[in-house]
Amino acid sequence: MQTDILIIGGGASGLTAAISAKDARPDARVCVIESLPRCGKKLLATGNGRCNLMNVNARAEDYAGNAAFISPALKAYMDRYESFWERLGLSLMQEEGGRVYPACNQASTVLDVLRLALADRGITEITELEARALRPDASGFTVETNKSSIHTKKVILASGSSAGRALGENDSFRKLLAPLGHTFTPVYPALTYLTVPRECVAGLNGVRLRGEIALLEGESELARETGEILFRDGALSGIAAMQLSLVAAGRKNLYARLSPLAENAYEILNRRRSAFSGREAAYLTAGCVNRLIALLALKRSGISPAVRAGDISDMQLKTLARELSDWRVPISGTGDFANAQVMLGGADTAQFDAGTLESLCARGLYACGELLNVTGPCGGYNLGWAWASGMRAGRSAAFSL
Ligand SMILES: Cc1cc2nc3c(=O)[nH]c(=O)nc-3n(C[C@H](O)[C@H](O)[C@H](O)COP(=O)(O)OP(=O)(O)OC[C@H]3O[C@@H](n4cnc5c(N)ncnc54)[C@H](O)[C@@H]3O)c2cc1C
Repeated sequence: MQTDILIIGGGASGLTAAISAKDARPDARVCVIESLPRCGKKLLATGNGRCNLMNVNARAEDYAGNAAFISPALKAYMDRYESFWERLGLSLMQEEGGRVYPACNQASTVLDVLRLALADRGITEITELEARALRPDASGFTVETNKSSIHTKKVILASGSSAGRALGENDSFRKLLAPLGHTFTPVYPALTYLTVPRECVAGLNGVRLRGEIALLEGESELARETGEILFRDGALSGIAAMQLSLVAAGRKNLYARLSPLAENAYEILNRRRSAFSGREAAYLTAGCVNRLIALLALKRSGISPAVRAGDISDMQLKTLARELSDWRVPISGTGDFANAQVMLGGADTAQFDAGTLESLCARGLYACGELLNVTGPCGGYNLGWAWASGMRAGRSAAFSL
């Protein structure tokens, strides 16, 4: 098979690259190959099925990666995203914090408009075809797949990462790029839960806490988030904890600091000790701290929940106040790739032209999406990068034909 532009990977960035390439050069033959039975499978799971497709506040500096590399593609996308999605027929709505969703609140509509755009433009889509090797030659590249080989003038690698793949590894980017001389930064699962010793959160599975969570390395604070923390068996999840996984990845000697009773904990407990002196200790926090979290704090403070509040000593009360305002939970690691939303790290962006996303190791090869060492926080930043880089890679490949 022969084509002009071959896109490897039919995910968010690959589908955008295909549409952008065809729009820039309607006469070019554009083909997308996808190893799974259908394109865009991951998109359906994004944003809990709602697809938080971008963030209007996204700036290059918000991403882990080289801001100077990220900026040109991101800026170009931010300048034209409204017309891009409007042309595809997708209505958008904006929520708190600049998060953008499809107006009908369904991730499937995003995939629908992308696939319709492919069909309308005559872009070839081949599924269950996996690229296994890339060989540059005088007129382009020969791409070896699990079934046949394809010759193409330009190739766009949009194969994503292993993140969110319950089916196992997807390190195509490494297998395809390494033989061409590309190098990689260390990769970690990110935007995933933090693992903690089970006993530290025993009995809290399913409990939600709204508030602050700080990430400490020894005594120094590395990062802090405010939002929802969801307790799991041996894990801290929820958006606030997941954001911290971006910083926690690959580090040791970490603690999460939680503050279920943040301000004036001792004063509050002291007042309540007088008010509820004849009641059991559990009354000290009833109504202001989740009962299960409070029971665990009493246990750590060495206070029996059955003891009368009035019998609790000042020293014990201070310990309890500390356990509720400065609760340290050791972090043993982060979730694995199957449970991560993104991969932190990836193909070294120093080996790609920031203006075109063309490889500096193999001319005619472009890359986009998550396989590059560009990772954003929760809130639409990663899909934002996928569209932005897909658009840029597609247009660059088309203009270079
Ligand atoms: C559960 C979950 C929820 C998420 N929610 C959000 C959200 O709401 N907002 C947000 O901004 N981000 C979210 N993300 C992250 C976001 O989905 C990704 O960053 C984005 O999809 C990356 O796009 P991509 O095109 O680089 O890779 P992908 O979307 O992963 O696409 C890559 C495609 O390439 C295919 N492929 C791989 N290797 C080959 C090969 N050798 N040959 C052919 N095909 C191949 C893969 O099967 C895949 O379909 C979420 C991620 C997960 C897992």
